[in-house]
This record gives sequence, C-alpha cells and structure tokens, in this order.
Amino acid sequence: MTLQTEPKTYQNYINGRWVSSSGNQVDASINPANKNEVVGYIQKSTKEDLDQAVAAAKKAQVQWRKLSGPARGEYLYKVANILESHLDEIAETMTKEMGKTLPEAKGETARGVAILRYYAGEGMRKIGEVIPSTDSEALMFTSRVPLGVVGVITPWNFPVAIPIWKIAPALVYGNAVILKPAQETAVTAAKVIQCFAEAELPAGVVNMVTGPGSVIGQGIIDHPDINGITFTGSDQVGKMVAQGAVARGAKYQLEMGGKNPVIVAADADLDLAVDATISGGLRSTGQKCTATSRVIIQKEVYEPFKEKLLNKIKEIKIGPGLHGDTWMGPCASESQLNTVLSYIEKGKAEGADLIYGGKRCEDSELKHGFYVYPTVFENVTSEMTIAQEEIFGPVLALIKVETLEEALEIANDVRFGLSASIFTQNIGNMLSFIREIDAGLVRINAESAGVELQAPFGGMKQSSSHSREQGQAAIEFFTAIKTVFVKP
Ligand code: NAD
Repeated sequence: MTLQTEPKTYQNYINGRWVSSSGNQVDASINPANKNEVVGYIQKSTKEDLDQAVAAAKKAQVQWRKLSGPARGEYLYKVANILESHLDEIAETMTKEMGKTLPEAKGETARGVAILRYYAGEGMRKIGEVIPSTDSEALMFTSRVPLGVVGVITPWNFPVAIPIWKIAPALVYGNAVILKPAQETAVTAAKVIQCFAEAELPAGVVNMVTGPGSVIGQGIIDHPDINGITFTGSDQVGKMVAQGAVARGAKYQLEMGGKNPVIVAADADLDLAVDATISGGLRSTGQKCTATSRVIIQKEVYEPFKEKLLNKIKEIKIGPGLHGDTWMGPCASESQLNTVLSYIEKGKAEGADLIYGGKRCEDSELKHGFYVYPTVFENVTSEMTIAQEEIFGPVLALIKVETLEEALEIANDVRFGLSASIFTQNIGNMLSFIREIDAGLVRINAESAGVELQAPFGGMKQSSSHSREQGQAAIEFFTAIKTVFVKP
C-alpha cells in the first residue's frame, strides 16, 4: 500500500489532555474513495487507557454535577460556536474518512451545532415535578439527577451527529462522558472532541478512547464505574451491550438497525414518491439506519413508478464525496462494500430479479475506492434475505402488492421497526398507516430517512431498546429520578 507522506496521528483525550495509548499501537483510518490514502492514524487503545479515562471521569463528575444546569449549558453553547467555526474542516474530514458527499457532511456538522445549542437550552428547563402529597404539610417532588459516568459507543455512519446527540444531553444533565467512536471514523471524532477541549470544559468531564470494539467497547460494557451505556450500531453488538449491562446492573440504551419500508399507494404522487425513495434509499450510499430499503408498490402504479425510478437512478453521479458533481460516494469501508456485494449475490441466488446495478464500480477513477452501483431488485418476496436483513448499502427491493392491507402486512413482516413511509393522498390510508405500522418514526409523504433533532428518535421491535434519544426524550436515559418527601 502506498501511504501518503505524513498523515497525522490522533491521540486519546483523557483528563483534559491528548495522550498516546499505553500500548503504543495505532490503526490507519483509510479514505474509502481511495484506499491508498490514509486520513490519519488513531490509537489502538488498551484496557489501561480506558481505566484511566474512567477514573478521570468519575472524579470530574463529582464537581460537574454541582454546576447548575444553565452553567453546564453555557459550556455547550461555547462548544457549538467552536464546532461552527471548524465546520468546513470537520465536514471535509468526515467526507474523506467515511465517504459521504461534502454537502451531506456539512449538513451533518451543522446539525451537530444545532444539537449542542438545543441541549444548552435544555440546561434551563425543568428537571422535576411537584406531586401532591396526602400529607397537607409536606412537599413532595421529583428531582432528576445524573447517572454518573456514561459510556458512549457510536458507529461510523454519522460520526459527528451521533456522538453529539449523546454527549450533549449527557453533559447538560450532569454526567461525565467516555466516547468510544467507531475506529473507521475516529479522526472525525477526534476533531469533534477537540471542540470540547477548546471550550475548556473541566478536565475529565469529556474523554475519548479509540480502539477496537472488542477491547474498548467491551471494556465500557464491563467497567464497574460506568453507570450508563448509550450505544448506536448493529443489533448484533447491541445485544451484547444489553446483556453485559444487565449482568452488572448498569443502565443502557440501544439504537440499532432498520429495514425500512416505503409504501407507494395507487393514489400516490409518483414523482414525489420516486424522489423520496431515491433520497431515502441511496443518499449516504444507503448507510443510514433510517434508509429506505423495501419499496412496496400497489400494482396499479408499479410499472410507471419503476420506470420513473430507474430513469432517475441512471442519472446518479457516483464519485468521491469531495467532488462537486458527486451525488453518491463510496461505501464507508471495504468490509461494508463486501457486505453489500454479498447481499446482492444472495438476492440473485434466492430468485429476485436484478434490474439495475448489482456490482462494484471498476472504472479507472473509481477502482481504488469502495464503490458500488445503486442497485434495484424486483420480484422480491418478503421471506427473501434482501427483504429481511439490513444491508446498509444502496440496494432497493421492489415488492408488488394488490392492496394496502397486503402492503402493511409486508411492511411489518420484519424484526426491525425503525422508520417507515407511505405515499398516498387519502387521509384514510394515512391514518390506518399511522395506526398499524410497527415503526418508531412514521412518515407520510416524506422519505423514511429524515429526523428532526427536537423530536424523539428511536425504533420499535429489535431496532432499539424501546427507549428514545434526542429532543426532550433524552432526559429519560441520562438521568435518574429521585422522589423527595419533605416534612418541615
Ligand atoms: P457496529 O455495531 O459494528 O459498531 C458500533 C460500535 O460498536 C463501534 O464503535 C464498534 O467499535 C463498537 N463495537 C464493536 N464490537 C463491539 C463489542 N464487542 N463490544 C462493544 N462495542 C463494540 O455498527 P457499525 O457498523 O459501526 O454501524 C452500522 C450499524 O449502526 C447499522 O446496523 C445501523 O443501522 C446502525 N445505526 C443505527 C442508528 C440508530 O439510531 N438506530 C443510527 C446509525 C447507525
């Protein structure tokens, strides 16, 4: 492999200082648009590094929790301003490290700024309620208190927004934090943590330890001094987090995969439905937990929908995310590319008809990156692997149905329940979809991928631990309730 001359080495952030791992080993973070380019080197940390970070966090949290909510919020406003001032650089790093296009990376970073400001404001809002006691002389109320030290384990697909939507509420409610970002995007994470460092939060309140999930992630699951674990990632790892947390009585929260359907009813606005299916299914190369992956279409509009869809997909420009004319970048890593290709093979083997894409892009400019064509299958049935498992790539499975009842049944026939859309102009169809669909995010005439930071976010069934993140829902995980009875 030809390495660039001098990519930087990024350290762990522990107790207010950037430090190298005690193991003295690093991993290379590779640009998925060109596997010969190293974006940076990150620490391959050890259990000892994690122990140091947890000890620092535990100590710092004692003072941090004594600050008022508004005072903690002031720190978040500061971090937001610093992140905003580094927005272009951080977005560019994100594009280089995980492949999404620069406009998407800028949008995500701007969202990170907005999330920080939102939770800064939450520092001023209520953290309890007065409840009438049967004793007329007593005062009874609830008060929300921090958990203590929170472990934050994040995936590579939103390397700015997800760490921030966990860290910001954790901090504003008085917790100290250990971030373990996905190793694939740890350079981006280091630049985000640098914003917290520049805001001069008290040492130890925010820490970052990079390294393999099996060592640092598992270390967070097992650590007796980590009181809460918030995890976003695959359902396989999520289940391990849950089991480990339950075994030692720690609080946990999981946001995991999706197999998100869009239903196109016979009365749908087809142009709108096509645009939303493409945007929801193929932006970020299909690597969103809320990405559309099953398109369930009523037979009356199946052929015109398919024709419009394919015509638009043919126009998609694939290339490096930093190029101005690129609409879709590469898969985020070689292993993700291989996963996508293996699902495409399974789709073919199980009898679905491949009608577009279905292979790696090997043109001369793209052959050094992890690119795959947007892919469309038809004649997909609900029991096929490509209709059941999360692919996390730009692959759409078209399923033709007779009725909307059948569409709903198929939409619900998966173990996930994150996000779901319907395109229809009929209010009755909308209401029955809202009532019947098993999804935490229900979208009418809008793409399946799309969330607003001030609203609760999370899935049903095996997509989540039945908790919610973001908006005011975040207080539920990051605090515990004390019920207080005062008799003067
Ligand atoms: P992943 O589960 O492989 O990794 C997630 C994190 O867990 C990483 O930091 C990883 O290092 C760590 N990890 C790996 N093994 C571990 C172990 N044994 N113990 C503890 N931690 C471990 O997921 P990924 O490939 O990074 O991300 C893609 C997945 O994330 C998809 O399934 C996607 O749907 C999901 N996701 C969900 C949401 C949501 O909010 N529902 C959002 C984004 C991504």
